[in-house]
Amino acid sequence: MKGGDFIIGSDFCSLPFLFFYAKILLVMKNRVYIKDLKDNVGKEIIIAGWVNIRRDQGKMVFFDMRDMTGLVQCVALPSRADVIEKAKEIRPEWVLKITGIVNKRPDKNVKQDTLNGDVELEVTNIEILNTAETAPFQINESSIEVNEDLRMKYKYLDLRTERMQKNIRMRDKIVTFFRKYMHNNDFIEIETPILMKGTPEGSREYVVPSRLFNGQFYVLPQSPQQFKQLCMVAGFEKYFQIARCMRDEDTRGDRQPEFTQLDYEMSFVTQEEVLEYTETMFIELVKNVYPEKKITQIPFPRMSYAQSMEKYGSDKPDLRVDKNNPNELAFVWILDFPMFEKTDERELQAVHHPFCSIKEEDKKKFMKGEDLFSIRANAYDLVLNSYELSSGSIRIHERDIQKQVFKLLNISEEEQQKKFGHMLEAFTFGAPPHGGFAPGIDRIVMILQNEPNIREVIAFPKTGEGRDLMMGSPAPITEKQLKELGIKLSK
Ligand code: ASP
Repeated sequence: MKGGDFIIGSDFCSLPFLFFYAKILLVMKNRVYIKDLKDNVGKEIIIAGWVNIRRDQGKMVFFDMRDMTGLVQCVALPSRADVIEKAKEIRPEWVLKITGIVNKRPDKNVKQDTLNGDVELEVTNIEILNTAETAPFQINESSIEVNEDLRMKYKYLDLRTERMQKNIRMRDKIVTFFRKYMHNNDFIEIETPILMKGTPEGSREYVVPSRLFNGQFYVLPQSPQQFKQLCMVAGFEKYFQIARCMRDEDTRGDRQPEFTQLDYEMSFVTQEEVLEYTETMFIELVKNVYPEKKITQIPFPRMSYAQSMEKYGSDKPDLRVDKNNPNELAFVWILDFPMFEKTDERELQAVHHPFCSIKEEDKKKFMKGEDLFSIRANAYDLVLNSYELSSGSIRIHERDIQKQVFKLLNISEEEQQKKFGHMLEAFTFGAPPHGGFAPGIDRIVMILQNEPNIREVIAFPKTGEGRDLMMGSPAPITEKQLKELGIKLSK
């Protein structure tokens, strides 16, 4: 049966299938979540889930069942021969539908402070919904010590572990908080294209060949930067997006080729307003989702890039009082980033990106093209516990100023038109002043969940080299596909 047939295919109307679906529906309808067992003491109920662990004590068999809400101990008593027989057969990770009576545990066996520590399920029937091979690692304990390649290959099993379930569910809570917060403040979520044109934002781009236009290519966005600015020209005034960003960078520690930002942009705002909005949002996030955590200093301390470099030798200073305290959160604003820098690869490039506006005091030098490395942008970072959470800036909204940045970056008139013609033109149609920010969701979740790297808070992460070990990507494509794309591989 194909996926699409599930509801309306002809199979559905045949009698055996009708019974099958009716039965599944019934299971779902009567099923009690494991977290709700305590409300059903004395009743016979149905649960469904996975065998977490099994302890065969000969006459009796104990096993823990797990569903998305938690664990419960199940007991197969000697008085039920058929149940005992099945309970001896089952193994960890088998999928079962269990019927049983919820009993209070004897006082001496009560486990305080654990879900269902005071109840257990006396099993009256076991229905095996599916069996399972022996898992390549223990599911019922943290997998953090397991070889990471193995965890990645069997990610769907790794995700079953309690720690990973918690990380991914907390990530959802954080994203939900941000979405609500944005909506409550009159932002609207706008999806921007994934297939776009190349733009220099500092990193190498992923390239996607076009089949219909052989020899032409899309690239994947490094961030929605240009689109969000164009949303401001379009009059939306307050945009946000939980945005996936793709950067084709060489292996660099804790990087992922794709990552997620809470991307936002506002029109008619000052830098101060962006900072205040962001700061209040993070304070509320901690208050609401992680009340056990303490923010070291409110309002967040601020320092200029120059001060931070001078005092800490870094633009990501760690301002925690106690670096061993997992519940301490030290936010700090780093302001007034330089506009230009020299790197190993390039004589001159924009520190953040070429769309940042220039500080009023440095405008003269900027227009004259003098003393470039001393020119500062209205650009700011938010740092948390030594991690850069986000960069942002007040943008350029005037064509001539934008052209001056391109000129100083040695981008020829022709190149400017080719790459940025749409931005330069948009600025001539009444572009409002605007600015924004884009905190990295993966890093935020990593820090709040006290995880050592972002792979622990991404459901299906890639390795440091950008490989997906479960699906096996990147992978070759067929000769036929290459031909359609007009691509010949050099040997
Ligand atoms: N687009 C920028 C980035 O990805 C953030 C911003 O300036 O809003 O770093």
